[in-house]
Amino acid sequence: MTLVFASNNEHKIKEIKSLLGDSFRLLSLHDINITEDIPEEESLIEGNALAKARYVYNASGKDVFADDTGLEITSLDGLPGVHSARFAGEDKDSSENIKKVLYMLGSNENREARFRTVIALILDKKEYLFEGIINGTIIYEKRGTMGFGYDPIFVPEGQHSTFAEMDLTEKNTISHRAQAFNKLKSFLLQY
Ligand code: IMP
Repeated sequence: MTLVFASNNEHKIKEIKSLLGDSFRLLSLHDINITEDIPEEESLIEGNALAKARYVYNASGKDVFADDTGLEITSLDGLPGVHSARFAGEDKDSSENIKKVLYMLGSNENREARFRTVIALILDKKEYLFEGIINGTIIYEKRGTMGFGYDPIFVPEGQHSTFAEMDLTEKNTISHRAQAFNKLKSFLLQY
């Protein structure tokens, strides 16, 4: 089965290829000559994932999936959520994003948060959504140097380490993204 993954992020494409295994041939946006930035203007994570998948489907007519992820903090009413990448500005600076989150939380004792990934799949003209969630807490100061984004301030439920203190294999056994992609994989293998 050949599918387009609506991304040009080489790191992500490699990670997803290894997660999905050899049963699928993945094409990137680059492979199908889509070079423009796909708009991400929806107010919900699922809306953004669907909008990206539909954009690529309309442009190429090919089966496609797209993902979108956000960090949702309970006491900030779900922020940064859909705004996670650009929370502190257009340059998508992770350390500025973290500073802004820690500033907004201040000494608030409710540090409950979750990462949520939604994958939208368009296959044989039908749309499907797959979701992965990991609950956790936001700590007061950064810890760890691995990973990316908000990893240094997120401790998953039942763990002591932040995501940035775990290697990728450890993170991938529990992460929001791995859960969503495993659901996609099971669905595709049974299709
Ligand atoms: P995307 O939808 O995968 O591009 O993710 C949007 C933003 O959410 C990223 O720019 C990061 O700031 C944040 N994010 C997504 N996944 C993770 C993760 O696994 N760890 C930390 N931050 C993440």
